[in-house]
Amino acid sequence: MSQLTSIDPAADQVVWQGAESTPGQVADAVAAARAAFPDWADRPRQDRIDAVKRYQAALKARAPEMAQAISRETGKALWETTAELGSMQGKVDISIRAYDERTGERANDTAFGRAVLRHRPHGVAAVLGPFNFPGHLPNGHIVPALLAGDTVVFKPSEETPWTGQLMAECLAEADLPAGVFNLVQGGREVGAALLDQPIDALMFTGSGAAGAHFRRKFADDPHVILALELGGNNPLVVWDAADVEAVAGLVVQSAFVTTGQRCSCARRLIVPEGPQGDAIIEAVAALVDRLIFAPWDSQPEPYGGPLISKAAAAAALKALQDRIDAGARVIRASGPVDNLPGAFVRPALIDVTGVHVPDEEMFAPFLSVTRVATFDAAIQEANATRYGLSAGLVSDDPAHWDRFIRRIRAGVVNFNRPTTGAAGDMPFGGLGASGNHRPSAYYAADYCAYPVASFEAAGVKNIEGEMKGLR
Ligand code: NAD
Repeated sequence: MSQLTSIDPAADQVVWQGAESTPGQVADAVAAARAAFPDWADRPRQDRIDAVKRYQAALKARAPEMAQAISRETGKALWETTAELGSMQGKVDISIRAYDERTGERANDTAFGRAVLRHRPHGVAAVLGPFNFPGHLPNGHIVPALLAGDTVVFKPSEETPWTGQLMAECLAEADLPAGVFNLVQGGREVGAALLDQPIDALMFTGSGAAGAHFRRKFADDPHVILALELGGNNPLVVWDAADVEAVAGLVVQSAFVTTGQRCSCARRLIVPEGPQGDAIIEAVAALVDRLIFAPWDSQPEPYGGPLISKAAAAAALKALQDRIDAGARVIRASGPVDNLPGAFVRPALIDVTGVHVPDEEMFAPFLSVTRVATFDAAIQEANATRYGLSAGLVSDDPAHWDRFIRRIRAGVVNFNRPTTGAAGDMPFGGLGASGNHRPSAYYAADYCAYPVASFEAAGVKNIEGEMKGLR
């Protein structure tokens, strides 16, 4: 049995160790979920609500401990992981509302009796989580799935097994029936072993590359519902905005929050050619210089921490260097941070105007600037991606917004707010390589259950009166 090790990237120290699940254990977890499904699905809605409320109470009781664990496991600042625990608890009430509003049951009277809409759960849902919000994002699949009546097998990211373990403990405290929730631990091979089992749904948040792989893998299994929440190469357009300091705040918060490790982070800043663009870039660079990237428990409180690992930092720096080698001009250079472990990188700002760069997500605090001549060229540039997760416009002119919102192709499109702004009571998902039109957050209810339409008459009555062409 191999060991799984979780490393605090801010201290370069092991914080958790445990056994990786064997293929046999993965199969047992799916079998347990399968066996538990019929009873769980048949229970009254209130039973499942009570169970997730108990889970919510366990999360609340353990929130400070879990926030610290997530900070240690990911290096994220404590203010951010504390907020993550808040979102996880909030998700429970939001999901109950979403279940009733978007799915649930309703009926209309008809001439013959009733037309009834019901929603039925799919069965066994495999949930694969990412490392960047290791609690909140898998929680955003697990809670609505349990409410809908699905049973769950969850594999956390191999970078964040400790968070997964703590979530499983909270679910155990919620006293769910045996087999309704199951945890397996490990890397991609364990994920692959899980997806080779007879599952009914894959609820996935992670990279575009993994999502593309899953689309192909399940191409001949239309009965397995896929909800794919993937990465982006998100644009932020700034056009006709006079207050450059205000602009800089919106740009920096879009690109550098969570050390650039949010799927909705802006990767591409699109500004006008000439002095307007120069002033924006100067103000952004000045604010970037003020950001504190430091260990999560350091004082003063840091803006952000390291990347998830030394390997992630090395890969990100290589992708950045490739762009510089291709001709990108450096406005702020990245590189290791003095006296801190190798997972820390400095935020970078590069100008890629006229340079051919790959349409890839750099999951790091790196922002690429492109200067264009007209607002329409800015929209065209913004849409020049195979992804379509988030996008933003910063402008004083509402007419620009009116044009932008009609032309831009993305699932989260913000105006004078950071691209990273999202809410649990709204859908969250992307187009193209960013997803598969099954957004999560408030709309997660939709992929956790399928609709069933029924036309019901109270008794067996002769319908000859409804039939044409009888002799
Ligand atoms: P990742 O794709 O590397 O891994 C996510 C999970 O999938 C992990 O549990 C991993 O073990 C598993 N996995 C990956 N490839 C697999 C395979 N071939 N077979 C089986 N399992 C596999 O993603 P990550 O690096 O953990 O997370 C960062 C990525 O997630 C970024 O691309 C980011 O944009 C994206 N993300 C998207 C959203 C969203 O809601 N759209 C939110 C957060 C993160």
